Amino acid sequence: MSRFSRVCRRRTTSMALVMTMSVALVSAQTRIVPPKNKYSPEEDVKLGREAAAEVRQEYPIIEDRDIDGYLDELGRRLVAVAPADLKHPAFEYSFTPVNLKEINAFALPGGPMFVNRGMFTAASSEGEVIGVMAHELSHVLLRHGTANATKAQGFQLGALAGAIAGAVIGGGWGQAISQGSQFGLGTWLLKYSRDYEKQADLLGAQIMARAGYDPRDLARMFETIQKESSGAPPQWLSSHPNPGNRSQYIADEAAKLTIANRPDQSGFTRVKARFDTLPAAKSMSDAGRSNTGGASTTSVGTVGQPVPPPARDYRTARGGQLFQVSVPTNWTAVSSNNAVKFVPQNAYGDARGQVVLTHGVELGVARASSRDLRQATDTLVRAFMEGNPEMRVGAGSSTVRLSGRTALATPLIGRSALGGNERVGVYTTFLANGNLFYYLTVVPDDDAAAYQAAFDRVGQSIRLTDR
Ligand SMILES: [Zn+2]
Repeated sequence: MSRFSRVCRRRTTSMALVMTMSVALVSAQTRIVPPKNKYSPEEDVKLGREAAAEVRQEYPIIEDRDIDGYLDELGRRLVAVAPADLKHPAFEYSFTPVNLKEINAFALPGGPMFVNRGMFTAASSEGEVIGVMAHELSHVLLRHGTANATKAQGFQLGALAGAIAGAVIGGGWGQAISQGSQFGLGTWLLKYSRDYEKQADLLGAQIMARAGYDPRDLARMFETIQKESSGAPPQWLSSHPNPGNRSQYIADEAAKLTIANRPDQSGFTRVKARFDTLPAAKSMSDAGRSNTGGASTTSVGTVGQPVPPPARDYRTARGGQLFQVSVPTNWTAVSSNNAVKFVPQNAYGDARGQVVLTHGVELGVARASSRDLRQATDTLVRAFMEGNPEMRVGAGSSTVRLSGRTALATPLIGRSALGGNERVGVYTTFLANGNLFYYLTVVPDDDAAAYQAAFDRVGQSIRLTDR
């Protein structure tokens, strides 16, 4: 036998082996195992219930029997076929339509789900809307919110409820959930890792198939959301980042699944017509909530383009009734409910699907997890680090003065979106009402020297006016 034919035969054998394996795989759907979680399902329910109550007060909730009933029906179809072992008896599912334009939906721990009208407007079929709902429901079933909290050691349940509510409302929901800002307390809880996203996609696909929908509709909706959000970073996609090859692996999973009989989908057209009889959908900026409505405030220039050094001249800016600060005249204010950033040109915006701040400062308020400044700061810093997994604590914190009050300075080291390390400074002090005020500085290592004087001057200019 020639050497050539021996090689050939071996290759044939191994190909046969590969084919046998793939035949075996085709028959089985991907097994999804919920991540480690130190909280109980009852705790999920409590957290979600508290946050949902606040959401209902703050959001333009649609109260229309046809639309409510339709959304509820879609939700029930999914819950009915969800895996029994993931349906904790304590869970309280609800499906609430919101009169907002933004293409967004989110679910809170334990079951409350909110779906924006904009999601219906963007969808071309019932399958596309229910796909997003199946994905959201999967986060609930797999308990990804409290699994996130489990990874962040040291959170107290009380602080968690605050963080969720903060993420949704007090924390500037546009900023935190929707925009997927790089910073901001609360982002970590409803912002899912790529692993969790893939789990929610796959479980969502399985649930869809069992409910009689083609999982490829979910992939299609992702593509629609991406397309429709021209320029501004798509809200839903920034809190649900693409793990990579999303459409492909959803299609692969779909190929392994048997799609149940198609349910009646005539409600979709009916409910779309019903939406047209309602008052026009608000955008979040109309609602006075946040800055996510206009593309102009979701970026300042283009990230990656050269960032100019701080101007020599300063101007005074106010943060509501809370503080006053001087900033270089060439920094633009970008505000949300609980924070304001001041950023030079090209230092804030989208970089690979995430909103990032590469140079500049943020001043904001967070709910304090403790009356102890160090503990409260630890919680805040952990929340920042949770949203920025490559970030680590730097040289250790020190006591400083901020507006005449005792404050803590905590240096962090992160990875800049521009490449290389970045230096992050977090300065915290208590407000009279017990909330935590923070002043945060961000700059890549390479530009640190050029920014240090400006950061110091801005920090020294802060006047807290809360009492
Ligand atoms: Zn997700």
